[in-house]
Amino acid sequence: MDTKTFKRNLQQSDNYHRNGFGHQQEANIAVNEEYQSGLIQEIRQNNYKITRGDVTIHLAEAFGFCWGVERAVAMAYETRTHFPHEKIWITNEIIHNPSVNQRLKDMNVGFIAVNEGIKDFSVVNQGDVVILPAFGASVDEMKLLNDKGSTIVDTTCPWVSKVWNSVEKHKKRSYTSIIHGKYKHEETVATSSFAGTYLVVLNTKEAEYVRDYILNGGDREEFLAQFTNAYSQGFDPDQHLDKIGVANQTTMLKSETEEIARLFQDTMLKKYGPLNLNDHFMSFNTICDATQERQDAMLDLVNEKLDLMVVIGGFNSSNTTHLQEIAVEYNIPSYHIDSDDRIFNDNTIEHKPLNQDLQLDSNWLPAGKITIGITSGASTPDKVVENVIEKIFALKS
Ligand code: SF4
Repeated sequence: MDTKTFKRNLQQSDNYHRNGFGHQQEANIAVNEEYQSGLIQEIRQNNYKITRGDVTIHLAEAFGFCWGVERAVAMAYETRTHFPHEKIWITNEIIHNPSVNQRLKDMNVGFIAVNEGIKDFSVVNQGDVVILPAFGASVDEMKLLNDKGSTIVDTTCPWVSKVWNSVEKHKKRSYTSIIHGKYKHEETVATSSFAGTYLVVLNTKEAEYVRDYILNGGDREEFLAQFTNAYSQGFDPDQHLDKIGVANQTTMLKSETEEIARLFQDTMLKKYGPLNLNDHFMSFNTICDATQERQDAMLDLVNEKLDLMVVIGGFNSSNTTHLQEIAVEYNIPSYHIDSDDRIFNDNTIEHKPLNQDLQLDSNWLPAGKITIGITSGASTPDKVVENVIEKIFALKS
């Protein structure tokens, strides 16, 4: 499919909306009222610190709702106002936050069910309204919804669209897109649907494996087994790694994305020489500002004297997990939770250690004076952070 032409035609169609419906101000007010927090405002004004009794909280200087998420949530609210009687669906969680998704369910927005990894679009009828979330939707989903005659409200963050434009450029010049991301993540699924030939690498270790293959060759079958499900149909490492472009999932660890881009640039430089580099390598900076700011703020925070850290965000939120990775790297005891409901009155906490399942820890808050660092992912409302802080204060009072 010519994805670029399809997208252009879709964007010109009367059934497609990506700029709201003129109720933006009301929607922003509603979002602010529901998700902002007086306590967080106070902490921000107090140089991101607050002490009550034995507890000092240090907030990261950039955390929580990003511009793209606020915009997507406000557009979903606007959609409900603009289509008060129509059936409204969303193709996925609007963002990775349980309370925001629940609020949309309360507004009678239906979530497309997923059965054995496959979304069931049979419930969508002609004339229904379908919202595409902040991290986008695959081109096949857009086509299917368009063919069904649905009204599409596209809240895809412009930063994500920027990555799609990058892979379109790779495709136009017959470069293979190497996408730094998680091949199953909705954003990467969407990005790869716009790419031509692609390979998804999760981390530097996988990128180094690809580099070695480019420079020294290797076992083709082993390569394909190593990247099962992470490459486009027909991808052949012996044919498709001579011209590569690097793109990324917007919420990956910024330092790692930069390292991977550098690694592939060096690889192609080594293999083809400086004069031919541009014929074999292309890369655009597509790390989103919000992700970058939150990771930079976390790097500042871990240099404070902290007894422990609480990282708040959905368990399937990639950007939150990367904040947690920074705490782990700096050896600070850290607890990834998605809401204050994970903190219990008997001083136990249910949390998700990095790359592990949920677990219960008791006596997580030490006795006496403590200093706690707190941050939250881009899909976490300030209200959720406030609730966590209040619960900690209550437990230590
Ligand atoms: S994290 Fe970045 S790419 Fe994702 S929604 Fe926010 S601004 Fe957009």
